[in-house]
Amino acid sequence: MLLKAARKPSHQPPAVMKFGGTSVEDASAFERAAEIVRARREELPVVVVSALGGVTNALLAAARSAAAHADAPLDSLEGHFERHVQIARRLLTDEAAAAVEAEMGRGRAELASLLEEMAAGPRERPPLQDAVVSYGERLSATLLTAVLRQYGLPATCVDARQCIVTDEAHGCAAPLPAETARRTRARLAPLLASGEVPVMAGFIAASEGGAVTTLGRGGSDYTATLVGAALGAREVQIWTDVAGVLTADPRIVKGARTIPWLSYAEAATLAFFGAKVLHPKTIEPLVAGRIPLRVCNSRAPEEPGTLVCAGADPSPHTVKAITQQLGANGGGHGEAPRHGPIVERGRALICMVGEGLREAPAVAARVAHALTNMNALFVKHEVSDVLLLDVDEERACEAITRLHAAFF
Ligand code: ADP
Ligand code: ASP
Ligand code: MG
Repeated sequence: MLLKAARKPSHQPPAVMKFGGTSVEDASAFERAAEIVRARREELPVVVVSALGGVTNALLAAARSAAAHADAPLDSLEGHFERHVQIARRLLTDEAAAAVEAEMGRGRAELASLLEEMAAGPRERPPLQDAVVSYGERLSATLLTAVLRQYGLPATCVDARQCIVTDEAHGCAAPLPAETARRTRARLAPLLASGEVPVMAGFIAASEGGAVTTLGRGGSDYTATLVGAALGAREVQIWTDVAGVLTADPRIVKGARTIPWLSYAEAATLAFFGAKVLHPKTIEPLVAGRIPLRVCNSRAPEEPGTLVCAGADPSPHTVKAITQQLGANGGGHGEAPRHGPIVERGRALICMVGEGLREAPAVAARVAHALTNMNALFVKHEVSDVLLLDVDEERACEAITRLHAAFF
C-alpha cells in the first residue's frame, strides 16, 4: 500500500537525495537506496539518480562504435539491459517488473534507431551522442521509481528534460539558471504539495529548442544542486560509495579520512581541481540560498559523512584535502572544462585545499620538506584557499602519499 494517503500536504522545504552510479549498480544497491529514501520520508525527498554504474561508459562506447561503422553496436549494451531487467524481476511484483521490462524494450528500440542514425551520418554527432547517452539515466529513473513504489512510497518519475534547461553545448551543456528554476518549480512543487516523491534522472537536460543535452561527466551532482536551488531545499544529499569527501582519493591513499566539514569555497576548489566525488560545478547553485550539501555513504547511511555549508571555517590555514589533476587540463569530451593553471603533458598538478592556505608560510615549508628530491615546483595563482604544485606525472601518487603522511 502506498503511504501517500497517510501524509498531510506539506509546504516544508524538501531534501534532494542524489544516488550515484555505484549506489544503484545492482539489486542490493537499489534496496539500500530505497531504504534510505523511506527512512528519510519526513525530510520530503526529491530523488535524483545516475545511470547504473558502467552504463554511461557503455553507451558512449556504443555511440563511438556506431559512428565508426562497427557492426551491431547495440550488442555491447545487451548485458546492461539485462541488468535492469534482472533487478526489476528480483525486487518488483511480476506486474510491476513486466511494466519496467516493457519500458526497457521501448528504450532499447529507440536506442537501436539512434545508433543506426549515427552510423548513417552525416547528422551532427554531439546531439545524437547526448540522445544516446541519456538512456542510462532515463532507464535508471524508471527502475528506481518502480522500486520506491514497491517500498510503499508514492514515487513519480519526472522527465528531467522538462526541468533542466541548458545552452546547446552538447556533452557539457551550461544550465540557464532562471528558466531551470522556473520549470523545476512548476513541475515539482505540485507533486511535493500532494505528498508525492519525485524521481528524476540526473545528468540529462534539454536545450530551449528541446534537444537532449548532458551536463558533463559526473553531472548528476550538478542536477541535484540545481534542483535544490530551484526548490529552496533544506539540504542536498549526495549518496555515493565512499564515506564523504575524503582527505585524498582513496584509490591513491589507503588511509584517506572523511573530512567532517568544508566551506563552499573549499568544496568548490576541491571539485574544480579533480576530486571526482563532486562534479566541478556542484557547489555553484547552492551559494546564493546558503543550502547545505551533505556527502554520504550509501553503504553506511548512519555515518555523518561530510557537511558542506556557508559559514566561517573553524580551522583556517590547515590542509583539508589533497587532489591531483593530470597533464594539459582541457578534459575529454563530456568533461567539464576547467580554467585553472595548465601543466605540461607529463607533469601533474597537485592541489592542497584549505581556507587561507596560500598565505600560510609554515604550510609551504612543510610541503617543501615532504617533497624533498621530487623536482616539485610551487605554481603561482590567485586562489587563496589552495596551494598548487607541479610534479612529474609519474611521481604524482608518491607526492600525494608523502604529503598525506606529512599533514594527516
Ligand atoms: P558516484 O557514482 O556516486 O557519483 P563517483 O565515482 O563519481 O561516485 O565519485 C566517488 C568516487 O570518487 C570515490 O569512489 C573515489 O574513488 C573518488 N574520489 C576521488 N577523490 C576523492 C575524495 N577526495 N574524496 C572522496 N572520493 C574521492
Ligand atoms: N552517468 C553520468 C556519468 O557517468 C552522470 C553521473 O554519473 O553523474 O558521467
Ligand atoms: Mg559522480
